[in-house]
Amino acid sequence: MQEMNSQKLREDALYYHAKGRPGKIEVLPTKETLNQRDLSLAYSPGVAEPCLEIAVSPEKIYDYTAKGNLVAVITNGTAVLGLGDIGPGASKPVMEGKSLLFKIYADIDAFDIELNTKDIDEFVRTVKILEPTFGGINLEDIAAPACFQIEERLRKELSIPVMHDDQHGTAITSAAALLNALAITGKDIGQIRLVVSGAGAAAIACLDLYVALGVKKEHVTVFDKAGLLHSSRTDLIHNQYKYTTASLPPDWSLTEALQGADVFLGLSVGNIVSPGMIRSMTDNPIVFAMANPVPEISYEEAMTVRPDVIMATGRSDYPNQVNNVLGFPYIFRGALDVRATEINEAMKLAAVQALACLAKKPVPDSVHMAYGEKKLTFGRQYILPKPTDPRLLTTVAPAVAKAAMETGVARLPITDWDAYQHQLSR
Ligand code: NAP
Ligand code: MG
Repeated sequence: MQEMNSQKLREDALYYHAKGRPGKIEVLPTKETLNQRDLSLAYSPGVAEPCLEIAVSPEKIYDYTAKGNLVAVITNGTAVLGLGDIGPGASKPVMEGKSLLFKIYADIDAFDIELNTKDIDEFVRTVKILEPTFGGINLEDIAAPACFQIEERLRKELSIPVMHDDQHGTAITSAAALLNALAITGKDIGQIRLVVSGAGAAAIACLDLYVALGVKKEHVTVFDKAGLLHSSRTDLIHNQYKYTTASLPPDWSLTEALQGADVFLGLSVGNIVSPGMIRSMTDNPIVFAMANPVPEISYEEAMTVRPDVIMATGRSDYPNQVNNVLGFPYIFRGALDVRATEINEAMKLAAVQALACLAKKPVPDSVHMAYGEKKLTFGRQYILPKPTDPRLLTTVAPAVAKAAMETGVARLPITDWDAYQHQLSR
């Protein structure tokens, strides 16, 4: 049955991508092009006028071109979904898909750009010289550890927002889920013991954000393929060292670490956590098993051994899906709308709080209908908003824009918030 379903999915997906004009996106004009007069404005000779304006005042590029609403989704295809290093060409359907999500959720135009290089300098240099074209850069599916350096350098060298979504989109969405799971279980973020499987792009970004929210570094225990991140290890990169421990034996196991732990965060591989390990956690354990497509432990297994668990996964077929689409469209929307020079910590934290708060509000009927659910209410089975919730745009984007203004990175501050809300909800 399963095999038949996956065969059907394969056929449907290939047909979906190939039918009509191949691929998933196209470019459409935004101005009238009905007659010769229109064309003489759109192109030569009229087009010279905005060119001259921009040549004199570079910021006018935002008034006369699409730059301000244009994001580049850029990859080198080295860590694509759960498929690994399949190369830039093979990653294009994913990047087109991401561009499509930008458009449908936040009306952001996005170009997918697949770069044929694994060289960090070449990647950085290429993105850097693309800066004039775009209002923001979404880095996508670039393998660790290169992704850390690439993002760090581009953030420093570019004056438009740059975000590696596999790191920060995951961190923001899961952090909102964590805050809400803690609220439901009455656990104090400053007290929780957190055990992490995985020390890659997503896990490290999550930890950085959780620590900014109040998790104590000394309460965190991290494992990768080689075992515990112990301070005696010499094979780690600098941002992994932040989460090493010296107080535990170097051969401490995930099984030992999970005994009495409050939270498990899995951003590694499927099926590496046993029911017994979840059973040994403290009361009301919080388990975010987010390896895709197979989580570290299945929803059914965790629920069977611990009915008091709050469980989240990366999957849409179980409650509490940690889906990056709850974050990136709206974070970029808010950042673009104030012409932010970057996406900083305050903006990420604002997105976390906005997402967490939204889940606590009554759910509109349109969302119930989209999911065929009778009544979604804040609680163990609903700790994050659903991706089709129209309030995400009007809640998260303004929160991000506000934080950009408060931290002095907004070049075009919003003055009339009612008008902005109105514009977003159109
Ligand atoms: P990554 O950078 O490749 O990191 C993977 C990490 O997992 C590495 O630290 C790796 O250890 C570790 N690992 C691999 N096998 C392990 C094992 N048997 N035991 C312990 N650790 C192990 O990948 P990533 O981008 O962070 O993504 C990691 C996983 O999370 C993927 O399955 C991805 O699909 C999923 N993910 C889900 C979401 C979501 O649900 N929203 C978002 C992002 C990522 P080494 O460093 O020793 O190789
Ligand atoms: Mg990705």
